[in-house]
Amino acid sequence: MKKIAIFPGSFDPFTKGHEDIVLRGLKIFDEVIIGIGYNSSKHTRYFEIDWMVKKIEETFADNNRIKTLVYNELTAEIAKKIGAGYLLRGLRNTTDFEYENSISQVNRYLNEKLETVFLITSPEYAAINSSIIREVHKYNGDVSDFLPYKI
Ligand code: ADP
Repeated sequence: MKKIAIFPGSFDPFTKGHEDIVLRGLKIFDEVIIGIGYNSSKHTRYFEIDWMVKKIEETFADNNRIKTLVYNELTAEIAKKIGAGYLLRGLRNTTDFEYENSISQVNRYLNEKLETVFLITSPEYAAINSSIIREVHKYNGDVSDFLPYKI
């Protein structure tokens, strides 16, 4: 049986920290599906969804074990539909842990076959944070060092 993991997030934007989790995830799983949670009726993103998908696909163009999926439902449900037995998440600090702990409990309740796997961030990426990147970009700061693709 193929080991498929879904790596869900808003990825607004997808960063080098996210890329690191995906690539390390590939050492554990046969396939990693980057799931971008997106509700088209709520325009709350900073970076356009289509642009983001294109950039992620560009980043992993030469790796057919990495796929991208935009979804608008519970992660626990989409995981069932795509046959993902694992939910991959990254942990940077205790704030992430508190939050991730709660969602993983809920996800277990919603889909008991889905096992959440956490990878601790690599130290060089620990400070990379999508919301800070959005803020810097908004005021015309250079964020290219934090992203695995050209912006
Ligand atoms: P969400 O909106 O679900 O928190 P994010 O796009 O912010 O989604 O993050 C998706 C996942 O990536 C989360 O598990 C988050 O903890 C992890 N993550 C975010 N930034 C980093 C980083 N710099 N290093 C490792 N993991 C990260």
